[in-house]
Amino acid sequence: KADAASEPHYVITTDGTYPPFDFANQDNQYVGIDQDILKAIAKAEGFTYTLKPMSFNAATQSVSSDQADGVIAGMSITPERKAVFDFGTPYYRSGIAWAVAKGSKIKSLEDLRGKTVAIKTGTSGADYALSIQKKYGFKVTYFNDSETLYRDVINGNSVATFGDLPVLLYSIKNGTELKVMNAKNPYQAGEYGFAVKKGSNAALLAAFNRGFAKIKADGTYQKIIDKYLNASA
Ligand code: GLN
Repeated sequence: KADAASEPHYVITTDGTYPPFDFANQDNQYVGIDQDILKAIAKAEGFTYTLKPMSFNAATQSVSSDQADGVIAGMSITPERKAVFDFGTPYYRSGIAWAVAKGSKIKSLEDLRGKTVAIKTGTSGADYALSIQKKYGFKVTYFNDSETLYRDVINGNSVATFGDLPVLLYSIKNGTELKVMNAKNPYQAGEYGFAVKKGSNAALLAAFNRGFAKIKADGTYQKIIDKYLNASA
């Protein structure tokens, strides 16, 4: 096995606040489904990395502008992004949901008319909201991180948000006072992928995919999912 000095080293960006995929724990270590997957893959494939947590928008733009090698951030694989990024093997199924504050009187998308919807800059949830904005006649306000966005909806400055279903459900389970309106029928079902800039970092992408196949086969991937999503405690 190569010694550490000869192992390839990469700069990987992530969303600083995206539980259960990416978040800092009580010891200020970055953990979560994405982070545990990345760590296990790096170990299996013999590469090291510097993790750079930031906003989701900055995380993806750092990679498309060559300031970082790769991004793992609960990033949805979309046709538009495939023009800019190469994605690794899809690793988690997701979809877009809309949510309101617990106890809100909003019952349907029609109730959003004239009101303000909070969206997260550069995300597929924001794109979805913008695609139906004219039809339902709402205003939008932008946030860079999910925590601040949730607070805006809970405080009533905005009345709803559009974002990833598993992330919203996880936050609600952990005490965020929101309610998902379409848990059974998410929009734009799709998958998350690790990404590099299109045409760049082929070795990193290949290592990710090889390592992912290994951790899928040996049960590590399922253990990670269970740890964050199926833990009984
Ligand atoms: N999955 C969404 C996207 O790719 C949101 C990602 C995030 O906020 N970290 O746009």
